[in-house]
Amino acid sequence: MAVTIKTAHEIELMREAGRLLELVHEELAAAIRPGISTWELNKIGEQAIRRYGCTANFLNYNGFPASFCISVNEEVVHGIPHKGKILHEGDIVSVDAGLIYKGMHSDAARTYGVGQITPEAQKLMDVTKESFFRGIAFAREGHRLHEISAAIGDYAESFGYGVVRDLVGHGIGHALHEDPQIPNFRQRTRGIRLVRGMTLAIEPMITAGRPDVEWLDDDWTVVTEDQSLAAHYENTILITDGEPEILSLTK
Ligand code: MG
Repeated sequence: MAVTIKTAHEIELMREAGRLLELVHEELAAAIRPGISTWELNKIGEQAIRRYGCTANFLNYNGFPASFCISVNEEVVHGIPHKGKILHEGDIVSVDAGLIYKGMHSDAARTYGVGQITPEAQKLMDVTKESFFRGIAFAREGHRLHEISAAIGDYAESFGYGVVRDLVGHGIGHALHEDPQIPNFRQRTRGIRLVRGMTLAIEPMITAGRPDVEWLDDDWTVVTEDQSLAAHYENTILITDGEPEILSLTK
């Protein structure tokens, strides 16, 4: 599939999709506390998405059974919300959310501390978020896609962290996952040339230990092989003729 360039109208819809997704994330962030289950968080998010007149794009995606991926501690991504999965003081929780507004998709993830967390966990979260911003410094017309990949990976690895190899960012628009794939680490090739109107979901997944991951028996939840903590930070962005526009982070 070719990388698509969005029209002004499609971009306008994606802007609104991103803005609404940011509001959904705010509601989820406000609900995170020790004692809440990931199932309850999923329900709060679903109610918000419905209230905004949108559809959850993760629900039933390749059979995923919930509207949000909620991943705790050594879980990297794709954790399935569950009534028995209770957040505890000191956990870190990654919430990956997406929605469809008038046919256009938005996708964004945040990692939060639950109550008081260790300085080590906080640093992992901070570096993961900052690696996204290091990456998108190259998300400009005329630059090459893999400059983003290298900037993310080099920054995270400079702290001794692992950069997950098995999962990558992606194009986004009429579909949740479009071309191109966007690795979070240095590539041998330069990648495609970036052009204004491309919309990308950039999403570093960073571990406190080794980068290797494995899938649990539910066939969804991705965990670090060495059980180290993992953090995830993602936004949907638009390539322009200048600074990239972060569609899912407007405030
Ligand atoms: Mg994504």
